[in-house]
Amino acid sequence: MTAHDTSPSAGRSALIVGAGIAGQAAALRLHQAGWRVRVVERAARRRGGGYAVAFAGIGYDAAERMGVLPDLLDRHITPDALVYVKKDGRRAFTVPGPTVRAMAGERNLNLLRGDIEDVFHQKVREHAEFTFGTTVERIEQDADGVRATLSDGTEATADLLIGADGLHSATRAQVFGPESEYRRDLRHMVGVFMLDHLPEGLTPGTTASVTDTGRTLAVIDLGENGAAAFFGYRSEESDRELAEGPHTTIPRAYGDMGWVAPQVLDQLAAADDVYFDTVSQMEVDGWSRGRVVLLGDAAWCVTLFAGYGSALAVGGADALGAALEEHPDDLPAALAAWERRIRPEAERKQRLGRQVKGLYAPKDPLSLWLRDLPLRMASNPLMSRFLQRRLQIRG
Ligand SMILES: Cc1cc2nc3c(=O)[nH]c(=O)nc-3n(C[C@H](O)[C@H](O)[C@H](O)COP(=O)(O)OP(=O)(O)OC[C@H]3O[C@@H](n4cnc5c(N)ncnc54)[C@H](O)[C@@H]3O)c2cc1C
Repeated sequence: MTAHDTSPSAGRSALIVGAGIAGQAAALRLHQAGWRVRVVERAARRRGGGYAVAFAGIGYDAAERMGVLPDLLDRHITPDALVYVKKDGRRAFTVPGPTVRAMAGERNLNLLRGDIEDVFHQKVREHAEFTFGTTVERIEQDADGVRATLSDGTEATADLLIGADGLHSATRAQVFGPESEYRRDLRHMVGVFMLDHLPEGLTPGTTASVTDTGRTLAVIDLGENGAAAFFGYRSEESDRELAEGPHTTIPRAYGDMGWVAPQVLDQLAAADDVYFDTVSQMEVDGWSRGRVVLLGDAAWCVTLFAGYGSALAVGGADALGAALEEHPDDLPAALAAWERRIRPEAERKQRLGRQVKGLYAPKDPLSLWLRDLPLRMASNPLMSRFLQRRLQIRG
């Protein structure tokens, strides 16, 4: 690199685009594999907090191998209760915290998205170069390496460029083709923002939600981390809604909802940091083109419906590092072996995401009733005690 010397002769080097969970995990894993790493991130600084995600499976296993599991365990959060509310605001049923924990089972964490990112960042920040407020404008590659022109006017060269720049990846657009070629829209919108204060009538420490036909509103109290509001709703015009933005479309979708919706919408009007996007999967036929590889949502976005994107990002980063170690002198072989390892899991989770998409905003009252049935049963005190005992014993 010109700004930072990572020419191939000085050892193998990677340029990572995006400092989300996938980018941070890849930075740590490639550092552990002996690579020199530089990360460029478009945002001016790291984003904290955000929504809570389930973290399990290959992500959990990978975190353990990479030595970050104790730090993740420290950040684990569990709600005191899940409260399901009827449309008119009355409580439908409550699943108590111990049952929620028992149902989650072992080796399954509930973490803030920003906390996962932070744990990896703290481990790798001394060992990789991070440049914020910068993106990649042009990518060229040949047999000797990959060269990126950065938005600050400098150039960076590396042996491998990892596009970990999320659902709307610019790396993918430049090297693989336009997003429209790969995107499968699941016809839902999702919005999340941090509340200033918990709406009146909600119990601290709980996650409370109401699902009406076609839309869900949840308020998640994260204790000392504040409280977040979550909107997930069906949309037949997701691109138009995305262009209009959350301050126009969310009030339109939820304006007639009762319960705490009016209080939440008031806070939304004043919020300037709102996560808002279409719910879309990425179906990319092959995740690498020469020396450029996609990782995380940029490659395979499984969506929140699968509840597994963070786990796949971390598991994918770990497997990439392992494949590069197994094929030290053969990049194409390493990338092919890596894709063979991860693709079946990613495609399985994409299928799951498509199957369960109706759960967030069931289209009719019967689907809604069916969705709630297992949780309703778990909220029954006898069933709740049984589940706690049984699931704790079985782990
Ligand atoms: C509401 C919601 C709930 C979810 N729940 C779960 C769950 O329960 N379990 C789970 O495992 N997953 C869940 N997920 C998915 C999970 O959050 C993502 O799959 C995971 O964070 C992987 O992210 P990533 O690093 O690939 O992409 P991102 O988080 O999108 O990160 C991409 C990074 O690249 C940066 N960037 C973008 N463009 C550029 C550019 N041109 N140049 C430089 N940098 C750029 C961005 O600023 C960002 O920092 C959920 C997602 C949502 C939205």
